[in-house]
Amino acid sequence: MSGVPQVFLASRNAKKLLEMRRILEEYVDGVEVLGLDDVTPYDEPVETEASFAGNALLKARAAVGATGLPSLADDSGLCVDALGGMPGVLSARWAGTAKDDRANNELLLQQLADVPDERRGAHFTCAVAFVYPVGAGGVAEHVVHGEMAGRVIRETRGSGGFGYDVLFVADERAGDRGGDDRTSAELSVAEKDAISHRGKAIREIAPLVGDVLGGL
Ligand code: IMP
Repeated sequence: MSGVPQVFLASRNAKKLLEMRRILEEYVDGVEVLGLDDVTPYDEPVETEASFAGNALLKARAAVGATGLPSLADDSGLCVDALGGMPGVLSARWAGTAKDDRANNELLLQQLADVPDERRGAHFTCAVAFVYPVGAGGVAEHVVHGEMAGRVIRETRGSGGFGYDVLFVADERAGDRGGDDRTSAELSVAEKDAISHRGKAIREIAPLVGDVLGGL
């Protein structure tokens, strides 16, 4: 034990990890956020659940089982109104199994090519599961959700963020710029954190993470 409060964040997505680390460190004093590269490799579960919460829980349970550390995992995706809520839990591999952001964005643009502006609404959802050891071999489980509503535009813009950020303009204004139609890939990291689905979910769970780590 290092004496520093440690939480394990079970994600392989480097950009997502950075986002979550940044927010947690702001809310939990002196926390050390370990990623998958910082722990002994273990069999990571396949995301077979139909809900974001179900997949986040699968990942966080496996994480605490393998590391014994209080563990966080998220599952997130883009839900497009005109596609009945898809890609949803299939967001990462919408165009195939390769987790190819560019191919996913191209496919989404094709699918929405004939959809008029007023029906291009969508939202990002993020479920964060926090699972931590309690008592003799038991665990406690909590799940929170965050959402960011907006719309899918007709061309990609911006170089920040990841995934579908280049196609997504949020309804909520990220700065004090009126008439702002920047995509979430054109926002600064602080601006995205302030309004993002992941930012909202992590800020909601952060006090509990702080309490649990403080009580260890
Ligand atoms: P996960 O790693 O299974 O949670 O998959 C998340 C997928 O949803 C990513 O690969 C992206 O395609 C999409 N996604 C989730 N959050 C964001 C975001 O903040 N911006 C852009 N795309 C996102």
